[in-house]
Amino acid sequence: MKIIVLKFGGTSVGSLKKIGIVSKIIISYVKKKYKVIVVSSAMSGVTNELLSKTKKLASNFPNEEKDVILSTGEQISCALISGKLNALGYKSRSWLGWQIPILTRGNYSSSRIIKIQKSKILNYLKKGGIPIITGFQGINSDFRITTLERGGSDTSAILCAKFFNAEKCIIYTDVKGVYTTDPNLTNSAKKISKISYEEMLEMASLGAKVMQPASIQEARLNRVEVDVRSTFSKKKGTNITQKKNILSKNTIRGISFTKNDAKITLIGVKDKPGIAASIFKPLFENSINVDMVVQNISAGGKETDLTFTIRLEDLNKTRRLVENNKTIKFKELIINKNVSKVSIVGVGMITTPGVTFRMFKALAKKKINIEVISTSEIKISVLINKKNLKKSVEILHQEFKLSNSL
Ligand code: ASP
Ligand code: MG
Repeated sequence: MKIIVLKFGGTSVGSLKKIGIVSKIIISYVKKKYKVIVVSSAMSGVTNELLSKTKKLASNFPNEEKDVILSTGEQISCALISGKLNALGYKSRSWLGWQIPILTRGNYSSSRIIKIQKSKILNYLKKGGIPIITGFQGINSDFRITTLERGGSDTSAILCAKFFNAEKCIIYTDVKGVYTTDPNLTNSAKKISKISYEEMLEMASLGAKVMQPASIQEARLNRVEVDVRSTFSKKKGTNITQKKNILSKNTIRGISFTKNDAKITLIGVKDKPGIAASIFKPLFENSINVDMVVQNISAGGKETDLTFTIRLEDLNKTRRLVENNKTIKFKELIINKNVSKVSIVGVGMITTPGVTFRMFKALAKKKINIEVISTSEIKISVLINKKNLKKSVEILHQEFKLSNSL
């Protein structure tokens, strides 16, 4: 059986008219002799609305019931799609997570799919049916409905492709694909035709919001071929695949950035072994994610300045934890909210010397000050003043010739 998984995001099923467009796309694959499995999100805005209802009712609304409510958005969109397909003369039905079942483990609202039972869906496909599967939900060992993390219908689709051994998973969304950088920031951004899982993961985790990062991780682990493309355009999108399938010689594939970081500097920290651990322990215990870190030994050698970045939303909590930390001594705490992290991403940098130098030189030429640096095998990130964000992205885009990307 030649199986393909088509996933539609919230904006793709956001109105009745759009459900019509989606139905036509589904039919086009049926005509190409594919056995089509559809996975859908809720209509855009619906999940947020449901969530706000639970919040208004009670701040301690039980998690189990919250998931029962949140999962209903997908129930609606899937029934609308299958209803429309039936009306157009195609055999189709909705499948809720528990009906398949899609088995999950873990906490409510952040469960993980551990298994998708294949037999019912395979039978249905064999009989010529088009299953429309609810994304974002499953059922746990207590037979209760669970939901994945927000945006989790991407993961549902990727794992359907894995369990049903699909040729491909196509993510239909409201953008034309993955871009070299955010097209809303600069019009030099170009659509990328092929990107590796690793690069895509970095781009997504660093702020390019096309797919949920966890779903890309699943695609990478299970070698699921993914295409990202627009529901509203005939143009080819972006193929997310293994490194070895990419011929393009570009060293850098894309530039991503964040706008929601805060930088904290502790001046005059007593320098002794274990000091960094004492600073970060309470942050870790409170699930605060520390991103970039630098430490400078001060002139005398007895003291050090320590700088790190966190998410802006964690700022108040972090400040409290640092100020109340009895195990450390420092002279001053400085907070800077006007920072952005700009990262260049590309698997090619492992084998290409001089990438770091080129990045720093390009920024220096424009007199852009680098405040913190961090690197991994396939990414270099710099922290800069937020006001220089657009300029930095554009100069790096030019330096690494991303406008020539294929
Ligand atoms: N409807 C869910 C959400 O809004 C899942 C998804 O859209 O992927 O988070
Ligand atoms: Mg989504």
